[in-house]
Amino acid sequence: MKKKILIKVGTHVLGRDNGRLNYNRIADLVDQIIILRESYQVILVSSGATRAGKEFCQFENEKDPLIKRQMLASIGQGRLFQVYSDFFREHSVVTAQALLTSGNFRNKNSFQNMKSTLEGLLENNIMPIINENDVTSHKESSFGDNDQLAALTGAMLNIDLLVLVSDIIGFYTADPKRDPKAKLIRKVERITPELLTLCENSLSEGGTGGMLSKLKAAELATQHGIPTIVCSGKEPDCLLKAGRLESSGPYFTPVNEKKQLSLRGSWMTTSADVKGVIRIDLGAEKALKENKSLLAVGVTGVEGKFNEKDVVLIQNNEGIRIGTGLTNHSNSVIKEFVKTKNKPKGVVVIHKNHLYTLF
Ligand code: GLU
Repeated sequence: MKKKILIKVGTHVLGRDNGRLNYNRIADLVDQIIILRESYQVILVSSGATRAGKEFCQFENEKDPLIKRQMLASIGQGRLFQVYSDFFREHSVVTAQALLTSGNFRNKNSFQNMKSTLEGLLENNIMPIINENDVTSHKESSFGDNDQLAALTGAMLNIDLLVLVSDIIGFYTADPKRDPKAKLIRKVERITPELLTLCENSLSEGGTGGMLSKLKAAELATQHGIPTIVCSGKEPDCLLKAGRLESSGPYFTPVNEKKQLSLRGSWMTTSADVKGVIRIDLGAEKALKENKSLLAVGVTGVEGKFNEKDVVLIQNNEGIRIGTGLTNHSNSVIKEFVKTKNKPKGVVVIHKNHLYTLF
């Protein structure tokens, strides 16, 4: 069975300075994907619908930026998909389009439908091309630049490698303009708060930054055991190099081992609507590793407002996400457990049947 690779291509990679699509670049990316398909099952998440729409209309008088973006995307998505499809057709590869929203991920039935459709397409050697359904996405729940959409889709499909292709070359240990000793970071073992600050020094040819959203996507992917590469789409053979793990862009090492979760587990750990966070100590972490329930004695902190049967994240004291589960108690009850000196013995906070860990 071939390994799965998900490639996300950002708008800046696909656009020209004159605002039009860069057809040569799209053709080149498709050529590389064709080669990658010899050793991987490939899923493509591509932005660029709004940019493609601008080739037809500008809507300069439209005051609402959201409506403008949605109108442009609805015009451009068909064009973008057609361009990809035509290039893939030259290699006799059939393409399939999927337009998804964050709401689709939160809804368990939609999640199941997306997962089985995409898996079916891959089994039949069809090339899935995914974008956000911009027309139906709300401002608050929009994926925006598709990095999160790519990471979620990747986790849902249990991929082996996530590649985020952008105009970002990398990021430095310090601001290279001020510190001549600043070095390009090549390997990231853990996404720390310091690293998030360093993102401000990310080097983006388009000057747009965007490394923060890449880090968040990489965080989600690596927690699900998926190594992640961020590379520049302007570098020759960027996808082929990424496929060989030889990219010059940063490589994010998986935090947990890749795990084969059930459909419910995969939905719970990636997409369910999380209402809060429960932090646990080392002893509880060890118990969870042994597939035991989470007991009140191991809880050290609680965040958010939730009721019993709500979905909550489980973090260790370093703030690393280790799982998701359905809580037996509200946040206020758990807060009491945390405060009291004599912790109640044997009280189950999350039962093992409703708890999914990432390690
Ligand atoms: N879904 C948007 C598009 O295709 C993504 C825009 C972006 O990457 O910023 O235009």
